[in-house]
Amino acid sequence: MGKSNRQRPRMLFASPAGEVFEHPTWELALDTGAEFVRPGRKDLVTIPDHWDIMTMAGTRPIGFDPDAGRFAELTTYTVERPDGSRETFEPLAVAVHPPPGYVRRYHSAAAYLDTLHPDEKFKSLGGGKLMVFQDDAGAVGGDDMARPGLPLWAYTAVGFAGDSKVAALFLADETSRWAPDLYYEPNLDELVARRLSDDPDNRVLKQLATCAKDYRCCCAQNIFYERWEGAVPTAPACTAACLGCLSKDPAWNTEAPQKRLKFSPKPGEIARIMAHHLETAAEPMVSFGQGCEGEPTMNGDVLVESVRLCRAETSKGVININTNGSRPEVIRRAAEAGANALRISINTFDRDVYNAYYRPADYTIDDVLQSLYIGRDQGMYLSINLLIWPGWTDRLQEVEDISALVEDGALHMIQLRNLCVDPGHFRTVLPDKDKRGLLLGMRGFVDELHRRHPTLRFGTFNPRLAAPWYEEVPPWVGARGVSAPTG
Ligand code: SF4
Ligand code: SF4
Repeated sequence: MGKSNRQRPRMLFASPAGEVFEHPTWELALDTGAEFVRPGRKDLVTIPDHWDIMTMAGTRPIGFDPDAGRFAELTTYTVERPDGSRETFEPLAVAVHPPPGYVRRYHSAAAYLDTLHPDEKFKSLGGGKLMVFQDDAGAVGGDDMARPGLPLWAYTAVGFAGDSKVAALFLADETSRWAPDLYYEPNLDELVARRLSDDPDNRVLKQLATCAKDYRCCCAQNIFYERWEGAVPTAPACTAACLGCLSKDPAWNTEAPQKRLKFSPKPGEIARIMAHHLETAAEPMVSFGQGCEGEPTMNGDVLVESVRLCRAETSKGVININTNGSRPEVIRRAAEAGANALRISINTFDRDVYNAYYRPADYTIDDVLQSLYIGRDQGMYLSINLLIWPGWTDRLQEVEDISALVEDGALHMIQLRNLCVDPGHFRTVLPDKDKRGLLLGMRGFVDELHRRHPTLRFGTFNPRLAAPWYEEVPPWVGARGVSAPTG
């Protein structure tokens, strides 16, 4: 085979200390989720230099060796320091995490040295308090046996081309309402304090203050900025136990990034926040179950009564329920009380893979589908939060299953969300690649659905349903072509 080609994107990898290197000859390899490929012309976009590169503990990087003409694992690397000293280490794969609005197109190409289920690993260690394997700075430390899996990110292939970082992702939504400079403004503390003084006994409002200031949650901040989509956290528990849940502390004693509520709120305190937001905000929407709490339909009576009390105050705006779809009857009652949008979280329409990820306690995927059909019959705007995994989501069978819903009028929008899960373990959960049928690639998956259903919307955020011009927004922003991120 030929010599290295300087035009092709180069492989990046890291030392165990977190130092990132460009390989002098090996090219970037991409992982489709089923095989390794070399990047095509449209597979990569240039990303801003300030985007962080993450090291992937417990992995070995895989690249394309042009001299050998094959993909290969980089098992050792020697770097020569400016002072002439040499250091040899076992490299780690690297990745980027796509920011909101962007979808992972290919996984980082890596070999995973440890694929045991995190819970099994914990049990095998006797359930004691474990050391965290990777610290915040990405440095690896502690007892290898204590590693409960990689942190929950969407590990996306990243390389170097010319003088820029490139990554295997694509833009799937317009991000104008989510620019960081629209949040964390200096007057946030003042707005929070004023609002709390107006409703001092409202525990949900106090939780929102914590969410806005400590967790830096955009939808919580919107409640205090009185604009757009605001979150109403109400759920301390869940009917599922997802492998990638961000709000439930897992068994191995690492903390979840956002804490769930520690109390069950009363309908009155929830409804006061909802009605205020719907009356005062621009493009008003209030969302139950936004992002990182438990399952809001678990306490159905509270949810339904909150909606009823709110709708007694105002008919304005959108009341949206983000849910795992486990309680269809609650969806019906909430819609009858005045909720008008529904977003159901799902990772696949395959029963076994659904169960492997969601680990539902007392419901099945049939309840999830029934929730969508009830939403249809109640006239709700219907989205799925599709947790995507390249190499699984892009199966032709998923396209067929989604098409059936669209044709039945039970789906208006797909929100493409990157499934954040320990990749080493999760790929062992999936059926062998020869049992997955035709894979279209993530862009091919979206483009095929767009071709079949031109009015089906795609995005990554809840739709701006309360904006008067919303109907004029193109259903698939990505149809315009590849966009390089700027933020
Ligand atoms: S999404 Fe999470 S951080 Fe934001 S308001 Fe809801 S519970 Fe709080
Ligand atoms: S459905 Fe949501 S809240 Fe429940 S376990 Fe899964 S990610 Fe967590």
